[in-house]
Amino acid sequence: MNPLTREEFQDALKKGLGRAVRHVRSSPSEVVREDFLDACVHCKAYDTQCEGFRTDWLFGMIELTGELDYYRGKILEAIPASRDADSYDFWQLYYLAKEYAIRGDAECRTVLYREFDLLVDDNNIGGADTLVELDGIPGLLHVLEIAGRRIQNGGDLWWEISYFLKESEEKFGKDTVHNAIEAEAAKNEFVRAYCEQKDQADSRNDFGISVVDERMANVLSQAPPSEEDEPTKRPVKEWIADILADDFDDERIHNATEDNILEVLRFRHSLFLGGSPSLSDEEIETIWATLMSEENPYRLFCLLYSGIFSRRIRLPRFDPKMLAWIDSPYPLSWKAAQTLADFSDESIRLKALELLQTIPAKRNWHDGFELICGSFRSEDEEAIFAALQTHHFPHEGCLHSAGHDIIKLAETYPEVMFREPLLWYYERTPCSLCRHNIVKELDKRQLVPKEIWEECVDDCDDRLRELTEKHLSSPELFSPLRNITP
Ligand SMILES: [Zn+2]
Repeated sequence: MNPLTREEFQDALKKGLGRAVRHVRSSPSEVVREDFLDACVHCKAYDTQCEGFRTDWLFGMIELTGELDYYRGKILEAIPASRDADSYDFWQLYYLAKEYAIRGDAECRTVLYREFDLLVDDNNIGGADTLVELDGIPGLLHVLEIAGRRIQNGGDLWWEISYFLKESEEKFGKDTVHNAIEAEAAKNEFVRAYCEQKDQADSRNDFGISVVDERMANVLSQAPPSEEDEPTKRPVKEWIADILADDFDDERIHNATEDNILEVLRFRHSLFLGGSPSLSDEEIETIWATLMSEENPYRLFCLLYSGIFSRRIRLPRFDPKMLAWIDSPYPLSWKAAQTLADFSDESIRLKALELLQTIPAKRNWHDGFELICGSFRSEDEEAIFAALQTHHFPHEGCLHSAGHDIIKLAETYPEVMFREPLLWYYERTPCSLCRHNIVKELDKRQLVPKEIWEECVDDCDDRLRELTEKHLSSPELFSPLRNITP
């Protein structure tokens, strides 16, 4: 593989591609320093909630630079300035400091405790798991002490803590945790304050730990709830009447943009029926008839968006009339693509191909990729690839949605190769989870190029690394790759 340009290196750091690691490995440390430091101090991950903070991956590169002290200094320096429980940058720095602390760095360990103490509040005990991971029971007792201090000042943390404690109990054993807390409470007024609040919560019959356990036991021992126990839900007729009564012709709708129309509609209605809808056939037919006779796009959207039709309850059938929804204003166009993707019909397929060949001037223009999922035919692969190449994706979210649909197609139609679309998306996806799925699909078809296996050894996604290791360890496949020297 050729050395990366600076832009390519920045891009690889952002996406979490293995080529970033190879670049760090093969370049003098001062060449990579500026961009790599930026990636350490600023979280670049696309979706930290799903992908995590990738700090093991980043730390691996720090080790490769041989400049552990340099990066350590910069990380510790950056922590106070980014201190904010809602900041991804902060948490990435925190977990990087943890990598040092795990390896015995006393100052980093102190910083982790300091930051935890500073940031903990009634809704957040972020970092608590790190202290337990580092120090076990003493770390746990520290968390409880800080919680107790807040409780003494009027805070209310037992709810957050109870879930955290449950994890510790699973890790160290219930008795060990219980005895340690009891011993500490005897000599530490703050841990005692925490225990008192917890006892009170338990006796109020709130969701304290013991109560959660009890409820779980009850649920497991009981027969399924009878019809009468079901939560009361709005009668379907009432809900439909509400939506039909709305004229959707006021200023807020007229002035809404594609960016806020969803919010406007959500505020106007309690869109959801409430409870978990289990509709009778008759109720489904009532809604169906309403959908078929309705012309107003917002009303149609509200009816479709309600959550009634979902994985469990599908629209009963396809009707050609539904195709017109696709050409309606957003958000009906978007919801319609999602809804029609459940059906297989030649007219839907043709509509999808038409969408893929034009550049729709609407925000959710990946609709074509979604729409074709149910009605796809193997000869459409080429049209899909052409659409991927020609369209401009206005932002990462659009690209990610379209790419998601490509993966879904590949999963649904294993007999189709999808080599080009998948490889195209491999290069471009901002999301490491998608990258793992791409390689999985390519692997099922034995289509993973040698260079991709070589690269994925160093990917930020551990499941992808695992898949790669597994592949590389089976001697019949690419055995020479095992000898690649770092
Ligand atoms: Zn993804």
